[in-house]
Amino acid sequence: MEKAKIAVIGAGPAGIAVGVEARVKGISPVVIFEKGETFCDTIQRLYRPGKRVDAVFRKMKVEPLGVCSFETESKEEFLQRMEKYIKEYQLDIRYKKEINALEKTDGGYRLRAGSEWVVEAPLVVIAIGIFGKPRKPDYPIPKEVRDRVFFEATERPEEGRVLVVGGGDTAAETACFLCETCEVYLSYRRPKFFRINPVNLENLEKKVQEGRVKLLMNTDIDHLEPDPEGVKVVFKDGREMVFERIYYCLGGSTPAGFLRSIGVEFADGRPKIDRYYETNLPGVFLAGDIALEKGSIMAAFNTAHIVVERILEKYGELVR
Ligand SMILES: Cc1cc2nc3c(=O)[nH]c(=O)nc-3n(C[C@H](O)[C@H](O)[C@H](O)COP(=O)(O)OP(=O)(O)OC[C@H]3O[C@@H](n4cnc5c(N)ncnc54)[C@H](O)[C@@H]3O)c2cc1C
Repeated sequence: MEKAKIAVIGAGPAGIAVGVEARVKGISPVVIFEKGETFCDTIQRLYRPGKRVDAVFRKMKVEPLGVCSFETESKEEFLQRMEKYIKEYQLDIRYKKEINALEKTDGGYRLRAGSEWVVEAPLVVIAIGIFGKPRKPDYPIPKEVRDRVFFEATERPEEGRVLVVGGGDTAAETACFLCETCEVYLSYRRPKFFRINPVNLENLEKKVQEGRVKLLMNTDIDHLEPDPEGVKVVFKDGREMVFERIYYCLGGSTPAGFLRSIGVEFADGRPKIDRYYETNLPGVFLAGDIALEKGSIMAAFNTAHIVVERILEKYGELVR
């Protein structure tokens, strides 16, 4: 597997600034994974054309600590600035790579995009912002059943009959997680799994053999209806089944869901980090909006500077 000194997740202002700060300090290789097709995906998508990008945002004046900084300018000028950073500091950004798992290894951590492990690094900086969303089905969820429909399984219910929908690694992991306490059915549109990694597939097959997960292959949901027992699922072939809860695993996740799934601890609804933004996982840092109570671009740049300084101070022997 490819090895890097620092693996960065997200190429928004924070992730790019981590790359810039690391380059200035001579740390190499640093690899940045970005789920979008281009850098600063949040800004490209959510800012309207011509929008003024305020250097003092929400009345917060933040003095620059590191290399990256800007004065109030238009969206287009700001994006040009970020593109210039990427070129000038020769940042290695891998686009269309959504990181969906992180696992401890002897050499640090390995990161997964889709069902492929893409990199191993002793240090990881998570700069995924706060705007991520899980993918939703294309039929409406009736309002009467919304409290029974979930897009990630951060906790296990004590019991019940549940349906997991999806055919990727998250669906397999969710089914295996929930079947410890629940009667689990897994609905997938195709006749065979082809996106699940071998470890997850083996785990899932074991649970299926033990009768703890029941597979509903080749099933496509038409719509949901409220039912006195929970949610009635009406499949396209006319079959109907009732579940207490439904978990959609169709791709994407909330940033908090991602952090919880990799083992980052939370306190009072916020990730637990020290003053240098390091999480409870040694060598795994947060940067940008995800690390801050009130985020802004300048604040994101500064978190990147603090994180890289801290990496040099605490983990210098791993990156030199
Ligand atoms: C409409 C709007 C207007 C704003 N105006 C201003 C302003 O004028 N001035 C200001 O200072 N701030 C403004 N902000 C806030 C500012 O945009 C954020 O503070 C800033 O973008 C945070 O940077 P970030 O890098 O932490 O996160 P983001 O910019 O959200 O970047 C995160 C990146 O990570 C990628 N990503 C997410 N998950 C994954 C994954 N699992 N794998 C790989 N990549 C992933 C995303 O695609 C994205 O490119 C505004 C925000 C909004 C929504």
